[in-house]
Amino acid sequence: AKKKGRNNCQFFKSEMNKRANERHSMEVDLRNALKCSELLLHYQPIVNIDDTKVYSMEALLRWRHPKNGLICPTKFIRLAEETGMIALIGEWVLRQSCLQIKAWREQGYEVPKLAINLSAIQFRQKTLVADITRILDETGLEGHCLILEITESELMENVEEVVRTLQQLRALGIEISIDDFGTGYSSLSYLKRYQINTLKIDRSFVCDISDNPEDTAIIAAILAMADNLKIHVVAEGVETEEQLFFLASHGCFRFQGYYFSEPLPAPEIESRIWKRINP
Ligand code: C2E
Ligand code: CA
Ligand code: CA
Ligand code: CA
Repeated sequence: AKKKGRNNCQFFKSEMNKRANERHSMEVDLRNALKCSELLLHYQPIVNIDDTKVYSMEALLRWRHPKNGLICPTKFIRLAEETGMIALIGEWVLRQSCLQIKAWREQGYEVPKLAINLSAIQFRQKTLVADITRILDETGLEGHCLILEITESELMENVEEVVRTLQQLRALGIEISIDDFGTGYSSLSYLKRYQINTLKIDRSFVCDISDNPEDTAIIAAILAMADNLKIHVVAEGVETEEQLFFLASHGCFRFQGYYFSEPLPAPEIESRIWKRINP
């Protein structure tokens, strides 16, 4: 038994070494990714069902790794946050989004608002508002082109500071959207206090519509309360007609999900989405 214990121990040690090595090499690669232009954005339409117009598009980060192919953000955002690289990456995402809006406008397209994900670390950075102001100036865009998506947990700490940051962003014309709504603990009174424009019902609730009565009840309650507070709601991860009908019948009018479109690279947005909305 003792021998087996030692073997196990060695197994864990080598397993931990392996993980540490993988993490280290990913960190090195990620530092390179920025320099070597391996990061890119995909865009996913958010559709308004009333007029079937694309109200906005969410910019979603991708990493084209030279050896491992296209990597999703869930695989590297944490590491970027832990190493502080998220500051540079986040700034790149903001600038790239603004440059893309500008490029599309110059090509004559009517471009809806772009929604950008902010990491909690970015949101708390003292320079956030100044950074965004500078990027808007550099690219000659107005703040109302942008929606910033933040998660509920960011609203709970340092309330005074959050209020100030949100006021400054609003003064620039930027909309604020609460991402993954329903997974955290924010009360609706917070949303009112912060004058939030939109909340996005997390995909986990949408995907359980019809077979999980509790999730269905939560969605119905969120929609009813948001309606009272005059806050828009986007349902994320809508994949089926059944989900769409349920949500629409409970007063949700904005949708994002594979049912309408997957996140697409810019050229495909041009050939597939712009053709629909800029005929
Ligand atoms: P999120 O903000 O909740 O983004 C929605 C995720 O759901 C995206 O995953 C999107 O591709 C996926 N999705 C959309 N519609 C459907 C659907 O119908 N079915 C399913 N199964 N999935 C759907 P993605 O692109 O892998 O992004 C994952 C997360 O990474 C995002 O979750 C966001 O938290 C984070 N992220 C993405 N881009 C950025 C960024 O630029 N900065 C930061 N800080 N985080 C980002
Ligand atoms: Ca998001
Ligand atoms: Ca989300
Ligand atoms: Ca999510």
